[in-house]
Amino acid sequence: MNPPERSTTPTDQAGWQALAAQLTLEGRGYVDGAYQWASSNETFACISPVNGRELAQIASCDQADAELAVAAARKAFESGIWSQLAPAKRKDFLLRFADLIAAHADELALLETLDMGKPIGHARTVDVPATVRAIRWTAEAIDKVYGELAATPHNQIGMISREPMGVVAAIVPWNFPMIMASWKIAPALATGNSVILKPSEKSPLTAIRLAALAEQAGIPAGVFNVLPGYGHTVGQALALHMDVDCLVFTGSTNVAKQLMIYAGQSNMKRVWLEAGGKSPNIVFADAPDLKKAAAEAASAIAFNQGEVCTAGSRLLVEESIRAEFIGLIREALKTWRPGHPLDPETTCGAIVDQAQLDRIIEYIGIGQSEGATLVEGGKRVMEDTGGLFVQPTVFDGVKNGMRIASEEIFGPVLSVIGFRTTEEAINIANDSIYGLAAAVWTSNINTAYRVAKALRAGSVWINHYDGGDMTAPFGGFRQSGNGRDKSLHAFDKYTEIKATWLVIE
Ligand code: NAD
Repeated sequence: MNPPERSTTPTDQAGWQALAAQLTLEGRGYVDGAYQWASSNETFACISPVNGRELAQIASCDQADAELAVAAARKAFESGIWSQLAPAKRKDFLLRFADLIAAHADELALLETLDMGKPIGHARTVDVPATVRAIRWTAEAIDKVYGELAATPHNQIGMISREPMGVVAAIVPWNFPMIMASWKIAPALATGNSVILKPSEKSPLTAIRLAALAEQAGIPAGVFNVLPGYGHTVGQALALHMDVDCLVFTGSTNVAKQLMIYAGQSNMKRVWLEAGGKSPNIVFADAPDLKKAAAEAASAIAFNQGEVCTAGSRLLVEESIRAEFIGLIREALKTWRPGHPLDPETTCGAIVDQAQLDRIIEYIGIGQSEGATLVEGGKRVMEDTGGLFVQPTVFDGVKNGMRIASEEIFGPVLSVIGFRTTEEAINIANDSIYGLAAAVWTSNINTAYRVAKALRAGSVWINHYDGGDMTAPFGGFRQSGNGRDKSLHAFDKYTEIKATWLVIE
């Protein structure tokens, strides 16, 4: 049993630690309305990057569990218990689900922090509220979306309607485990599908907990299932499954490509992919407020330890202000020093696991050997805690062809690249396999619009970084993926369009 929800959120590290000590962690998957261990009884250890300690044993689901979950999801879908419910009724269930998540905000934030290392302050004020908002917004929208009537001759009716796909498998990453899950499960459920959520093996705890809250909200058995486990086992089994109609994914570009192959090798299931990025943040000398631009550039690389798909990891700065701007960034990064993730004052937490930390440290070495100048950070810190921490790091004098500028590091490592003309800035920004996001800072409306239009990216921000809310679609150009999460566009992923034509005798 988990402790009853506290009426007051802890205000210091000791308070969060006391709450953590009371938690009983669930490690089982959730299939057909019940928590259960993997059919094989295999488990794996869930290790906290905060201190290196084991949090729980987690069910290591595989093909056999995928079979059970898909069968349960299909049965629920065909029964109509959810798929044929009026959208307004599904809305009610989803709003209850969102309310329960909000009511368990402290517990869920704590699970996210312990599991993947992000600061508790952010988990509590960003991850949980954003998850609640995503589910509420989507639920509120679903009974306000209409079909179409075609422009027919007078004796005919052409109805264009949307129908749920059926069984949706959602495979999500570890950097924002709940938010990424909510962007998939909310529109998938709202449109009447049955869902199987596969969290990352690095961050399964909140997804597992959400299953109980969905049950408490009254979502029927089989409609929402959670299968923890590895990508190459249960993830692959879902992606290759002949009875999964739609596969939605957030994660790396390499795995995204593999999923397209699996779909081609199996049943041509619909595949929607949100993948990696190497987003350019372009600062012109006439930016309205250089200090603000620097503060947001620092946040764009240090927030969530840089483990953000839209991280502003390539900072393009007009040469005339480059030295000054680097000074401002270094100043701004003083507020992003690594600290204990359970301290509410901490802004920069732990890196998710040893492999990711090793990758970041390796890239810092690569940057130095490529000839870039390390001007800030670059070291692992707080090793005595048993946790995995690295300093936010800045390289100056980076060329866009260097590996630190072209490959996604997924850590707090910033590459600063100088430019002289608007054309040069656009060319450097677009010289990437990715196209997830970009920002431009300038006081000139013509420059702002010209650059925004030329950038090959799914989101472009003008004079700020990382704007938008549930009303704005989110996704990538190029190898950053296809399809869009959030907004009404998200419904496109989870519905087939049907044209029904009636000729009146
Ligand atoms: P990842 O691709 O390694 O894993 C993502 C998920 O895919 C995990 O659940 C994993 O178990 C699963 N998986 C791995 N191999 C699989 C396989 N062969 N078959 C089926 N499933 C498999 O990514 P990650 O390391 O968890 O997350 C980091 C990546 O996610 C970064 O590249 C980042 O840019 C990207 N990301 C993108 C967005 C976006 O919206 N575009 C958001 C967040 C993260």
